[in-house]
Amino acid sequence: MMQRYLQGIGMTSQRTRDRMVKRLIEQGISDTRVLEVMRTTPRHIFMDEALASRAYEDTALPIGYNQTISQPYTVAKMTELLLENKESLTKVLEIGTGCGYQTAILAQLVDEVFSVERIFPLQKKAIAHTALLKLKNIHYTHNDGGWGWADFAPYDGILVAASPSEIPEALLQQLTVGGVMVIPVGDSEGNQALQRITRVENTFQIEELESVSFVPFLAGKE
Ligand code: SAH
Repeated sequence: MMQRYLQGIGMTSQRTRDRMVKRLIEQGISDTRVLEVMRTTPRHIFMDEALASRAYEDTALPIGYNQTISQPYTVAKMTELLLENKESLTKVLEIGTGCGYQTAILAQLVDEVFSVERIFPLQKKAIAHTALLKLKNIHYTHNDGGWGWADFAPYDGILVAASPSEIPEALLQQLTVGGVMVIPVGDSEGNQALQRITRVENTFQIEELESVSFVPFLAGKE
């Protein structure tokens, strides 16, 4: 029964996941590690049942509490940017757990994932979703991710799934030398650009990549 739910049928079947991956390749995703994990990870189990049939569309969909699951292309792109030129990563900090889909993708590609979410009921859902997949290398905390997660710092990768107007200083400080952060940074008009920041000794190299659309990075927790 559970196996069948995870596997999916019709609009949630393996064929539908294969089609999603074909689209990702057409959109320019080329890291075979990322493509394989997205091919085998059921995305429909991260959504409410009413939306499960739309899980493999290339759009952001609501997950409650005014938040959205990031679109498959964005998840793939951010993961690819984080892993580029790296064999693997040992510790990755994720800010904005949401429903846990990006978390699950990361957990299958790196040693340990540390994920911070400010909305408690979403964190609870993410824990349930990733437990279904028996992923054991994820650590969750309910907090304002603007502070990072100092207990386990530094991290060789940081992925931020909500858009601040400026990069929080604590996140920069929690990056190892050589470490990489992928983050959507927005201006006051809501234009956001995906940035990849690499720490080189005590300076930070910034690459500005494509424009994106994320929910805002908010302070405090609820
Ligand atoms: N990758 C997630 C994205 C969810 S949307 C998914 O696919 O489900 C972004 C998430 O970031 C939301 O759940 C929102 O509550 C969270 N968020 C926004 N600001 C935050 C902050 N300062 N600290 C922690 N989480 C934050």
